[in-house]
Amino acid sequence: MKIFVVNAGSSSLKYQLIDMENEQVLAKGLCERIGVTGAISHKSADGRTYTAETPMPTHSEAFEAVVYALTKSEAKVIDSFDEIAAIGHRIVQGGSIFKGSCLITPEALQQIDDLGALAPLHNPAHVLGIKACIKTFGTEKPQVAVFDTSFHQTMPEHVYMYALPYEYYEKYGVRKYGAHGTSHGFVSSRLAEVIGKDKKDLKMIVCHLGNGCSITAVKDGVCYDTSMGFTPLDGFMMGTRTGTLDPSALTFIAEKENLTPADINRICNKESGMLGISGVSNDNRDIAAAAAAGNHRAKLATDMQRYQILKFVGSYIAAMNGVDAIAFTGGIGENDGELRKYVCDNLGYMGVKIDDEKNTLRGTEVKISTDHSKVDVYVIPTNEELAIARDTLKIISK
Ligand code: AMP
Repeated sequence: MKIFVVNAGSSSLKYQLIDMENEQVLAKGLCERIGVTGAISHKSADGRTYTAETPMPTHSEAFEAVVYALTKSEAKVIDSFDEIAAIGHRIVQGGSIFKGSCLITPEALQQIDDLGALAPLHNPAHVLGIKACIKTFGTEKPQVAVFDTSFHQTMPEHVYMYALPYEYYEKYGVRKYGAHGTSHGFVSSRLAEVIGKDKKDLKMIVCHLGNGCSITAVKDGVCYDTSMGFTPLDGFMMGTRTGTLDPSALTFIAEKENLTPADINRICNKESGMLGISGVSNDNRDIAAAAAAGNHRAKLATDMQRYQILKFVGSYIAAMNGVDAIAFTGGIGENDGELRKYVCDNLGYMGVKIDDEKNTLRGTEVKISTDHSKVDVYVIPTNEELAIARDTLKIISK
């Protein structure tokens, strides 16, 4: 059975076709510049490629290009879309409504659209993607929504509420929702599996460290707390995002520089974090190179990022009254051994011990703690597309 996984952005469309018999990716690709010009780059698992510049005024033309790539191009992997059992969509914001993945009915689609107020950059684009999918493939092909937020829906009330006047929660739903839930769910399940214990019996911390970063405390097999909040801006510093800071710093700067809320949003989301501090790049590899060459601000960005990650991990150990296992994932988590060592060495007081040799491995699933470590520490590569495909299969099999 084949599942087509879609991640629709406002001007882009990422996709993977996954064969669920062996959970192997058959092909993947990306449509870009939708609404402007249009281009597709597509690759089959055996290395064939297809690229084209073709007009994509809307997501519908992008899906037509994807169908061509999958079924007719020199990198085709299937004869017809009839071979595809269902389509799984990544949806960023499910609010308090969606506690798990669901079949996309007209009512669910409307709810996803309505939640656009909480994710203005994402949900409206997902809705465009779903509508274009329906137009291209018809209503017979089941479509499933998999939400970044649903893994975090188990957070208790005292964890997800902000200490603002209660009416803002009642009127606008202002609370912590979290993000990267598909990744945290996938990695925590895999972590329990490799340790060989039921996830209900483990206290786990998952550090998803990429361009966007979040850390989640997983207790009794479900999310107890997570670093991202009302939006994916919360938590600790990321490639271009601030993470948590004193809101007064923002109102102060806004008054000094005569900034609007939209300006503040842009600065905090796009111009801050590793980029804002280093002035070099949002990419950890560039920053590491600059720091090694003696750039003080690059070194400062690295020091700040590591320290903030350590503080979140430490706070979640306190929140769960202990930890059995920690996983690192995402581009940074899977590759940056020095960062992992910094975090783990600073947890040495509670018996965390890293195997320095294993910790040099990159991008692969590996236990990096020693056999004497009181806490198991692993690198677990994340796979959000596979998690979406698995959920899609589960929903259509019901
Ligand atoms: P992601 O958003 O998960 O693709 O992760 C992007 C981040 O991972 C960027 O900051 C990259 O610099 C970082 N990254 C990717 N590969 C490496 C690597 N080999 N070493 C250090 N950081 C890496």
